[in-house]
Amino acid sequence: MRKATKTAALVLAMTMAVSALTACGSGADKTTGADVTGTENAEAAAGTETADTGAADSAEAADNAAAVTKTEGVLTFGTNAEFPPFEFVAASGVIDQYDGIDIAIAKQIAEENGMTAAIENMEFDSLLIALENGQIDAAIAGMTVTEDRKKSADFSIPYYTATQVMIVKEDSDIAAAADMADKKICVVQGYTGEICVQDMGYSYEAFKKGTEAIMELVNGKCDVVVIDSATAQKYVNDNEGLKIVEDASAFESEEYAIAVKKGNTALLDMLNTAIETKLADGTISELGAKYTEEITAE
Ligand code: GLN
Repeated sequence: MRKATKTAALVLAMTMAVSALTACGSGADKTTGADVTGTENAEAAAGTETADTGAADSAEAADNAAAVTKTEGVLTFGTNAEFPPFEFVAASGVIDQYDGIDIAIAKQIAEENGMTAAIENMEFDSLLIALENGQIDAAIAGMTVTEDRKKSADFSIPYYTATQVMIVKEDSDIAAAADMADKKICVVQGYTGEICVQDMGYSYEAFKKGTEAIMELVNGKCDVVVIDSATAQKYVNDNEGLKIVEDASAFESEEYAIAVKKGNTALLDMLNTAIETKLADGTISELGAKYTEEITAE
């Protein structure tokens, strides 16, 4: 990329980050198109996120990371294993009973830095509090970067681009977000889907788990579930008679990143180096494809 273009991209990324106040538009580069964040976007985002950290090189970052985890030699990730294909409970997972794209990324990052990865499974709403308390070192949970969340945690460069979609029954007349106005809407508590519907001014019912919201839809007790795209695909595959409705003008793209306790720049640098490498060498897109295929094959 020529320098001028790169600078323009950086300025664009920064402008978008500043102007994005709602979770429906989290500051993602809308020209990306692909699910997995492009390396150039990652670089642009890295420029905005890490410019002030004094940039330890990756070897230093790895050394520092040992000192900044709550238990030496262990990198403890918090997650909410209710969000396939990113994290879910399986008969035999990659870390204990936990499996998914995020869990595989967590394991690789820990091991590549000479540590073991541990998972603490908790409610999505508790993750940022657990970071602040020092109960976990990092949160990896398909977590969308939002201005609000950035007030209580620091985020890595993004590793995945997603969007909110609507899941409806196959015979539903909902074709756009505006059609939800007089419908019964279900969301999952604390997810960006809830924030989007709230911002749109619609009333809704919030459930603790995606599967609970989907059951309401399947049982005809609600008309539409608003949730992240890849997870929606999993639910539609698992349940007869459902379909996905997209509305790109209402739901902007969102970016998933790993959260750390505010100020833990050594760990953040280590995570950023690892993510940058895994975006550039195709590891993250391979994991995305692998876990999406597993879902489709079920
Ligand atoms: N991406 C959504 C959010 O950040 C949902 C994440 C999740 O359920 N794990 O709110």
